[in-house]
Amino acid sequence: MSGPLTNWAGNHTYAASTVHTPHSVSELAALLGHADQLRVLGTRHSFTAIGDAATLVRLDRLPEAGQIRIDAAAMTVTIGPCVTYAQLTAALHRAGLALENLASLPHISVCGSVATATHGSGAHGNLATAVLAMTLLTGTGERLVLTEGDPRLPAGTVHLGLLGIVLELTLRVLPAYPLTQTVYEGLDWATLIAHTSEIFALGYSVSVFHHLSDRPPALWVKATPGSPPAAERFGVHPAPAPRHPIPGQDADACTDQLGVPGPSSERLPHFRAGHNPSHGAEIQSELFVAIADGPAAIRALLELAPRLAPGLLVGELRTVAADGLWLSPQYGRDSLGLHFTWARDPDAVAHNVALIEAALTPFAPRPHWGKVFSLPPVALSTAYARTADFGALRAELDPRDVFVNGWVRARFPALTARPGGR
Ligand SMILES: Cc1cc2nc3c(=O)[nH]c(=O)nc-3n(C[C@H](O)[C@H](O)[C@H](O)COP(=O)(O)OP(=O)(O)OC[C@H]3O[C@@H](n4cnc5c(N)ncnc54)[C@H](O)[C@@H]3O)c2cc1C
Repeated sequence: MSGPLTNWAGNHTYAASTVHTPHSVSELAALLGHADQLRVLGTRHSFTAIGDAATLVRLDRLPEAGQIRIDAAAMTVTIGPCVTYAQLTAALHRAGLALENLASLPHISVCGSVATATHGSGAHGNLATAVLAMTLLTGTGERLVLTEGDPRLPAGTVHLGLLGIVLELTLRVLPAYPLTQTVYEGLDWATLIAHTSEIFALGYSVSVFHHLSDRPPALWVKATPGSPPAAERFGVHPAPAPRHPIPGQDADACTDQLGVPGPSSERLPHFRAGHNPSHGAEIQSELFVAIADGPAAIRALLELAPRLAPGLLVGELRTVAADGLWLSPQYGRDSLGLHFTWARDPDAVAHNVALIEAALTPFAPRPHWGKVFSLPPVALSTAYARTADFGALRAELDPRDVFVNGWVRARFPALTARPGGR
């Protein structure tokens, strides 16, 4: 490793001085057996120490690291631990298949994204809800396969890296489908608050980008070709040229807009695979509230606008459907995500995040696991009804606590508690 290893955004430096690269699962199991604390690196796009440990491992030398096995009859795909969404959607596209939804960028690993409940927008679940089976190397070095019908699958799909090393995921796929992408400008906040649910139902996937400033929010609508335009109903107008969510950034980094139909994998992400996404010198945070509380949550956010706007590169509102995954931020509730891309100033971000968390407390917010938050442990234990159940599963699969790291102990210690106490 040359120089200290950081996450993508550069706001976290990993503690380990060496990254191990096992060439086989048995070598990996031996490494695991000797480690006091171990984590696997994904594509390092999380903004926190969630993936840090004394022993860090990259899985890209495993023979199965990049495997993509499509079963078109079963409408499933099985992938190895290092596959990114860019690689996966390209292979699926060649086979006439697609995923139900995607995040804003395709550069990220599927395993890391599923672990943190990464999401897109629309009336669809987060990306972990596509998982039909998962193969883990547990803390005891055993290979464990969780399949549909096993209650441990919804329990452990969103696992924050705590249950084991994911060697394989099987995902549900759909026949390939086209989408268009149109940016509409000139949305006003009063209209958004009065018609929150209708606006987010305007397309297959809808995002509202905003700056909490005088610049009106913009609607990014990814829609089935031929859908009625949004303009007539909500007083917005299509942007005359391609846009980047962050003013001043080059729109060449973004997927095609202006209503041109294309594969869903080239419209659902905001950013193209071959370009740098977003801004780079940034830190992200995101909280989820029930969609029914969306209008009130947006009003609460607007009250903070003068204090938040100076550090904000861009804000994004998206919807995510309810699911039954125990540690999913969308567990049991259709959700509105209030996302923020901040200029990379950790102290200012911490201050702003605390302000937003306090303002949204009446709505029992849940944080994005891969982004910055400071909600106290007690708030998380309350927000996640299956905390104790997950803790019990974790204790069973990782009896030595080898996957427990400082981030979990500080942020969500209830997950590390053992049934009956330690
Ligand atoms: C520019 C940018 C845009 C983003 N856009 C979105 C977005 O649209 N929607 C959204 O929800 N999030 C978004 N994120 C956040 C990001 O997608 C998530 O944090 C996600 O975790 C990234 O995946 P990763 O592989 O990089 O994870 P990493 O940070 O590498 O790892 C995350 C966790 O997963 C664990 N892990 C990874 N692989 C394995 C494995 N094989 N076995 C066991 N554990 C594993 C790690 O140990 C760690 O605990 C964005 C981030 C950036 C930088």
